[in-house]
Amino acid sequence: MIDFVLRMKLIAQLATLISILSFPAAEIGAQTQNTPPSQPAAPAQEPKQHLLPAPPRPQRPRSTDDAAAVPDRAAMLRGAYGPFRANNDLLYYHLNVRVDPDDKSLKGKNTIRFRMLQDATRIQLDLQEPLQVDKILMGSTELKYQRDTGAVFIDFPQTLRAGQVYSIDFYYSGHPRTTGRFGGITFKTDPAGHTWINTACEGIGASLWWPNKDQWRDEVEEMDLSVEIPNNLVDVSNGKFVSKTDLGDGYTRWDWHIHYPINNYDVSLNIGDYVHFGDQLGNVPLDFYVLPADLDKAKIQFSQAKGMLEAYQHYFGEYPFVKDGYKLVEAPYSGMEHQSAVTYGNLFQNGYLGRDWTEVGISPRFDFIIIHESGHEWFGNSITAADPADMWIHEGWTTYLESLYVEYRWGTADAIKYLDGYKPKVHNLRPIVGERGVNAEPPVDQYFKGALMLNTLRSVLNNDPTWWKLLHDLYQHFKYQNILTEDIVAYCNQHTGLDLTPIFDQYLRHAPIPRLELLFGEAPGMVMYKWRADEENFAMPVRVGTPGHWQTIHPTTNWQSMQTDLTKDQFAVDTDHFYIDVNKQ
Ligand SMILES: [Zn+2]
Repeated sequence: MIDFVLRMKLIAQLATLISILSFPAAEIGAQTQNTPPSQPAAPAQEPKQHLLPAPPRPQRPRSTDDAAAVPDRAAMLRGAYGPFRANNDLLYYHLNVRVDPDDKSLKGKNTIRFRMLQDATRIQLDLQEPLQVDKILMGSTELKYQRDTGAVFIDFPQTLRAGQVYSIDFYYSGHPRTTGRFGGITFKTDPAGHTWINTACEGIGASLWWPNKDQWRDEVEEMDLSVEIPNNLVDVSNGKFVSKTDLGDGYTRWDWHIHYPINNYDVSLNIGDYVHFGDQLGNVPLDFYVLPADLDKAKIQFSQAKGMLEAYQHYFGEYPFVKDGYKLVEAPYSGMEHQSAVTYGNLFQNGYLGRDWTEVGISPRFDFIIIHESGHEWFGNSITAADPADMWIHEGWTTYLESLYVEYRWGTADAIKYLDGYKPKVHNLRPIVGERGVNAEPPVDQYFKGALMLNTLRSVLNNDPTWWKLLHDLYQHFKYQNILTEDIVAYCNQHTGLDLTPIFDQYLRHAPIPRLELLFGEAPGMVMYKWRADEENFAMPVRVGTPGHWQTIHPTTNWQSMQTDLTKDQFAVDTDHFYIDVNKQ
């Protein structure tokens, strides 16, 4: 209880303080930054940005951190789940493509099977220029189509009926663009001078190199991938290796079967002078493909894959793609989460491209790319966001999975230390979840702030067995599905019995993080507290006091008070476990 006179004094102080604190929301963002928005000097390095062999170096934050790009027509057509996409449900692809390394060209067809959800005469697929549409057939009937930027609108002579399954053959050819952060598709040579062709097209889109329904909401249920390449080369793609067939014209066809739903950007070609070695973890086949010169290094470095799989299986359950196996495939960029065929270019060293990634001494204990990109098998590949705006479901969760790996191997204290090392990489310049339907990638905060938010939720629950069960059950509930942020929030609310919506919304849908306002009176013995947050109903427990003697308080956005023997300087807040700002007055 508060002494009445003291309370009156505090209320008078408060009136003054509230007038001081009532600056516009934009300023709150600036106050909570290490650097103001106009000078985003903090080097934000996002996984997957680097191309080898360039040495690691600080990079400017991408423009997406300052403001969302204004979508152009191509982004609108690719991002929107419009009526000509929503009227059908993908069932199956068989992509058969011939790759000409000398001409740097592709030629092939994708057989696309889908079920109509409504009666319609038109559907939308995608193929980006300068690739050509050679013809589109249903049976022997050639279909008319209209191209509009990357979209291909296909018209049928008769109405396709809801509930019926149809199949079309989409023939294409040409020279694909090399563009985007990872090149999309690159025709390179390895250090020994052999052909090395790789795809990595998240963001820019798989329709950069093959025709498909290029969006995130609808995945095929299964896929066959047949890749024709010159006889002396090896293709490593997703799924289970089926066979290779000498076509008798200098080319060999490599057939792969993907038994599970797969997002388009995960479909991958890796064509080169690969050598293979294998292993097994329980019922999961492990297959590794590297350039011959790297074989010895890879045999040592890739032994980390087993410990990674064991850790993630411990928290979430069985590896999601057992029938396809788990693969690591050497590639000329840092890495990418291609489903069941994770690409790897991390120099066969621990850390991230040789650096201590979170700079707290823990990252050098493991290979960042093996641990991060493989974590996406659970969050990104098995559970997939239904729109790029919700991509924190891939990146925030997988960054958090890194800390789970650390916790599994080295304990909770190191996991918390590892996560706290991510704080300097957070910008808090704009919300993590942006506009849907425009194919816009969220800011890098989706990685580090997303992970720090999840760690904060663990502290909010304050009951680790409950937290571990929630993580496990949430993954099991949503595996192989395409979901939105609201699905995760609703699941967590339902299974904790708490209203966590304002917490999720504050971290994901606003730029600033919550700030704990602490107001100390003239007399010792009491402190007033409340949250400053954009969410009107923001309420979150937090631990205060001194390390080792924490006390949980339940601040809301209204002032409350507590007694304390601590002075303003002694009074601490557990910011290791809660990602928040603190303002003592
Ligand atoms: Zn990632």
